Amino acid sequence: MVEHQLRQRGISDERVLLAMERVPRELFVPEESRQYAYEDGALPIGHGQTISQPFIVATIGALLALDGHERVLDVGTGSGYQAAVLAELAREVVTIERVPELAEGARIALAKAGYDRVEVRIGDGSLGVPDRAPFSAIAVAAAAPTVPHALYSQLEEGGRLVVPRGSRWGQELVLVVRTPTGPQERGSVACRFVPLLGKGGFAST
Ligand code: SAH
Repeated sequence: MVEHQLRQRGISDERVLLAMERVPRELFVPEESRQYAYEDGALPIGHGQTISQPFIVATIGALLALDGHERVLDVGTGSGYQAAVLAELAREVVTIERVPELAEGARIALAKAGYDRVEVRIGDGSLGVPDRAPFSAIAVAAAAPTVPHALYSQLEEGGRLVVPRGSRWGQELVLVVRTPTGPQERGSVACRFVPLLGKGGFAST
């Protein structure tokens, strides 16, 4: 996975490659799809949601440019896989999921994989986690029509936010850096995420 899906496709950040090598992805996919855990794609995890493709998880990790000292917010816990990768890359990870059953499953998987210091919250992550802000970095694993304002406002100065921005059917992964003069944006790869449902995302109906 690391060689073919990541390094050969241009992921060069050694910390990210090492993190991807360390996290046992099979612990974050449903038992019946364990044999596909290291394949090049997203997989269903129930409740109409998916665990993201490894390349996309690595791309988000690389765009956040973490050095190991940060407090990071992960929006859209899903299986907990992205949160585990972020826990390898940063000091502290808070993750938030709107579907309680997925949050519970992620808590169990994270503990099994040895990442029990990741804090799993249940709620509308499009509003961030104000009581734990500011964050050095925020990863959003669900598509938003615009950069959610609450998330940008919970970044520290110089903080980095990665979010798939676009329609419900296709997005671009965008890096937003908080600067004294306002947000600085850079586009990255095309992607397709499930929608971010909530106040700062798409309407849930
Ligand atoms: N990072 C996950 C990917 C999960 S898919 C992984 O590695 O497995 C995106 C997740 O975002 C879904 O579980 C979905 O329920 C969740 N989600 C959607 N809108 C949300 C919101 N407003 N707040 C929190 N979670 C949300």
